[in-house]
Amino acid sequence: MEYYPTIGLEIHAELKTKTKMFCQCLNDPDENHPNINICPICAGHPGTLPVMNKEAIKKVIQMGLALNCEINQHSKFDRKNYFYPDLPKGYQISQYDLPFCINGKINLFLSDNPEISQKEISITRIHLEEDAGKLIHDQINKNTLIDLNRAGVALLELVTEPEIHSAEKAKLFGQSLQLILRYLDASDADMEKGQMRVEVNISLSSKEDALIKKYGTKVEVKNLNSFRSVERAIEFEIQRQTEMLDSKEKIKQETRGWDDVKGITYSQRSKEEAQDYRYFPEPDLPPITVFTNEKETGLFSFDELKMSLPELPWEKKTRLISQLNISNAAAINLIQEPKLADFLEKCVSETQSEVADQTAEDRQKIISLCYNYLTSDLKGLMALKGAKIEELRITPASFSQLISLIYNNKVSSRGAKNILEEMFKTGKEPHLLIKEMNLEQVSDESALKSVILEIINQNPKVIAEFKNGKMNSLQFLIGQAMAKTKGAADPQILKDLFLKELEN
Ligand SMILES: [Zn+2]
Repeated sequence: MEYYPTIGLEIHAELKTKTKMFCQCLNDPDENHPNINICPICAGHPGTLPVMNKEAIKKVIQMGLALNCEINQHSKFDRKNYFYPDLPKGYQISQYDLPFCINGKINLFLSDNPEISQKEISITRIHLEEDAGKLIHDQINKNTLIDLNRAGVALLELVTEPEIHSAEKAKLFGQSLQLILRYLDASDADMEKGQMRVEVNISLSSKEDALIKKYGTKVEVKNLNSFRSVERAIEFEIQRQTEMLDSKEKIKQETRGWDDVKGITYSQRSKEEAQDYRYFPEPDLPPITVFTNEKETGLFSFDELKMSLPELPWEKKTRLISQLNISNAAAINLIQEPKLADFLEKCVSETQSEVADQTAEDRQKIISLCYNYLTSDLKGLMALKGAKIEELRITPASFSQLISLIYNNKVSSRGAKNILEEMFKTGKEPHLLIKEMNLEQVSDESALKSVILEIINQNPKVIAEFKNGKMNSLQFLIGQAMAKTKGAADPQILKDLFLKELEN
């Protein structure tokens, strides 16, 4: 039987704040020495008092505004009680019934398929809590060690409605959220480093039942540390649950882990073992008024926070498409690398300002040249050397000089690639390199004519073949002339000159 999967996501992201959520300890994800950034507050000593990090609250509310959430004017923190060795206080400060943000929605704007990209996913809530420490299992000495550097780091939690119906869309949602976190500078959201963690819940039912929100038994999968594993784990669960339902087995409501090497999920704990967290309001922190209005003084001004939002990825996508007249797919590539997009925009505007008397067609040609040389040639060199765009010795200004040379036929495309490689290595300006490397394209016909005549004299057999209708011979002759001029000749002019000579 065909079943319809319904998927909800729960995503955690470590916020990029200078200090932890409730103390002054540094939040340094790159600190490799254990228990360096700890103090009596985050180590859970009795009698200590937490102090709220306003910057973390700001980042959560900015996320909420970006994701079209309602922001609760009144909010508070709650204690979530449970015992685990990585949680020194015996409870986690989290938010229960009054999260900062509720009822948001976003489109899957990273998809090039309009049917998918117009799909809206509802966000149930976004709240703020603290992260736990890390347990390190020492296999050799059979010990478990505790590192509390991460304990107390501000952690954003986002929960979606069960409105996702395929592994691909779940992956797209996660990727979209990662990009928004990065645009807002709220989190580096590196999944490999555990800065962003995704949990999925999956149930199967008939499509008719899903439409009236009658879902099957929900299975949760944890430990997903890449988008690839999110996709694979969902596909595995759909398969596993389908086989169980087909053989009339009952799905157990449980939490499962993901084994990335074996490519399977495995049972971790069943619902009977689910805990009662005995939530209650955190007595050591005052309730929060979020925004200042006529009656109340709050933590933030709504207008200022709204104004502080940067251009968001889908806004950038729309703008790039309309300003640069590029395809939807090209814009999707660019918004995922905002630094590359910035570089491109600067190159286009510099090149366009250097070229006089442009028609709309000229402007589009410049955009295409900039886009192609940047996304294929320069990115190719970067990938080869493992260089990042901010480390480049090439500036948008020198890159646009190169594009101008290409646009004005001063250099052949082969010559341009050679110059670019040299620019990449040395950071030298292209107008110097073109002379140093002797790559100035020769378009002076009289200078080329002697080369052409020489080649015609040296290749009587090829000439005869050409005159008998073998068109490939012409390419051979042009190739010879290119070699003789070391790539400096304009191939179009060579072609014209050969044809003129051979027709006589
Ligand atoms: Zn601390």
